[in-house]
Order: sequence, then structure tokens, then C-alpha cells
Amino acid sequence: MISVNKSPISKIDSVNFDGLSFGSVFTDHMFVCDFSGGSWTDPKIIPYQPITLEPSARVFHYGQAIFEGMKAFKDDQNQLFLFRPKDNFKRFNISAKRLAMPEVPEDIFMKGLNRLVRLEENWVKCGVGRSLYLRPFMIATDAAISAAPSKNYKFMIIASPAGVYYSGEVRVLIAENYSRAADGGIGFTKAAGNYAAQFYPTSLAQQKNYQQVIWTDSNSHEFVEEAGTMNVFFRIGDTLLTAPTSDHILDGITRKSVLKLAEDLGIPTEVRRISVAEIKNAARNGELKEIFGTGTAAVINPICGFEHAQEVFELKMFNNSYASILKDRLTAIQHNRADDPYQWRHMVP
Ligand SMILES: *Cc1c(COP(=O)(O)O)cnc(C)c1O
Repeated sequence: MISVNKSPISKIDSVNFDGLSFGSVFTDHMFVCDFSGGSWTDPKIIPYQPITLEPSARVFHYGQAIFEGMKAFKDDQNQLFLFRPKDNFKRFNISAKRLAMPEVPEDIFMKGLNRLVRLEENWVKCGVGRSLYLRPFMIATDAAISAAPSKNYKFMIIASPAGVYYSGEVRVLIAENYSRAADGGIGFTKAAGNYAAQFYPTSLAQQKNYQQVIWTDSNSHEFVEEAGTMNVFFRIGDTLLTAPTSDHILDGITRKSVLKLAEDLGIPTEVRRISVAEIKNAARNGELKEIFGTGTAAVINPICGFEHAQEVFELKMFNNSYASILKDRLTAIQHNRADDPYQWRHMVP
């Protein structure tokens, strides 16, 4: 049973829903459940507020911290939906296991999400592009700094209203030395530390006026892996290409949704290793038509140029790109404006 302690006041009237910057405003409540004595106890929804931790809490020292990113949507009849929430739940526990953290039971994860979204339904606005971004996460809370996994954890869900994701023109630098993830590592998890490791190389790219880095494999730097914190697709001729998931490429839910939609639209797809040389050759001979990233926050983010080894390439933007067709298809399903033969929409009870 989830106990609910409602906030006596709401911040909602002070929020400008047309001028939201991503992930900076949070709703009135949060879900909290603690792991101690070997079990998850006392799941509850309480007013959004600071949490108190000991300075020795293991999360600060050894980085046992994982998260998920997902969205709730409203259709034009004010029905509430989550998009493929079971996939986020499964991936959360895949991350937990790899970081030696306890798995969260399905009913705690799903009921926590459903109850929180239902309680915050006024924060979910109608209209394509609008959503409530949900951030489940878990941290190690033991007050002890011996290098060992924690025995106590906190699982929480916070929620942030999101508007149309506006990134402007995105150009990327293809990494020649830095990597996001290595063989045998934790690249397939949504571990907080994966993001910490990306900020510095990304800031170097930003100094050169590139918004993101396209990560390459850590062994040879010859094969492309992901774009920033998104999976990456390339259109060469009429074929849509993306790299296979592995222990160093995250199994994105947007990625696999886009692949499925592309197949069903009759777009030829190939899931295989893609070399930087292949991309550069295709760019030189005019066969490289599109590059785009996929992820929950931006859905599909077109990339209009890249640099690798001091060579700069620009792509022409055009109408009816795969990126725009697939984004329209996906957002129509998310907002219940199109049939959902895949059963990706989950009605919030
Ligand atoms: C979260 C994430 C993605 C995108 O996954 P979605 O399920 O589509 O949101 C891609 N790459 C990395 C590294 C990520 O952390």
C-alpha cells in the first residue's frame, strides 16, 4: 500500500507552461521508498522536498546511483498515458543489478509511477510536444565509506513538466580519443557516473561550437556508438542504420520504437556496426542524407553537421526526412492520435 500525504499548497499556478526549460521545474509531490534490512518498506508519496543524507552516504563516495527517464502524456480527451513503462522498469533493474544495487519490485515501481502521475495529472498538458517527464532513481544511503556496496538505498520518483524540446541546430564532434563506455563496463546502464564522465569531453566539443559528441568504440575509435546521451541513426541512401546494442551501447526505448516504426513503414533498416570511415565516405559522395539522435527527452533530434579529424561535413536539411516522419508517427502514438498496434501506450489507472 502506498500512503499519500498531499501537499497543502500547489506551485502549479506559478509555472509558465509555455516557457519551460527542460528538467528545471518539479511537481508538488514525489514518491519515496527505502530499502533496509533486506527489503523495500513503506512506499509513500509526500510533498516534494529536500532529503537529508549523512556526508558519509555511500552514493557520494562510490557513485551507486542509477536512474530512468520516461514520460506521461495526455490525449485530447484528457486521458493519461505512460509510454512503454515496463521497458523502463526492466532497464532500471538491469542497471540496479550491474551496480550491485537491489532490484525494485515491479508493483512498487509501477504503482509508484501510476499513483504519482495520477496525483499530478494537472501538470500533464494536452498537445503534441507536451508531457510530464518522470525521473525514477536510486541512491546508496549507508553512512559508511568502506569500499563496498551499500545495504540501504532510497528509490524515488520525481516529475518535471516538459514542453517542446527545442535544441536549435545540432552539430557534433566525432570522438577520436574519448569514450563514453568500454567493453565489460557499465555503458548499457543508466548509471549517474556515465553522465559525469561525458561532461568534460562534451565541454571541449562545445568550445569548438559542437553541441554534442558522437562517441566511438573505446578500442579503435573507428566505430560510432551513440550521440551524446542518445542513440544515433544514419540514413545512407534510403537505408536507416544504427549500431547494435551491447554492453557499451544503451538499449534505448526510443531507438527500438523508431526501428520498429521504420520497418513497418517499409523503410529499409540495418542494425550493424558503422564505421566513421563509412559515414565520411557517404558524406563525401552525397549518400549520407540524415543523422539523428533518439531519446525520451528530445524524441528525435536531427544533426546537421559533424567534424572528425579536422574534416567538417554539413548535411542539407529537407522536408519529409525520416527524422520528421518517424517523430510524427511516434508522437502521434504517444498522444493517442494514432492507433497503437504495438501496445506501447499504457493507460494510467
Ligand atoms: C537514456 C539514454 C538513451 C535513450 O534511451 P531512451 O530509452 O530512448 O530514452 C540513449 N543513450 C544513453 C546513453 C542513455 O542514457
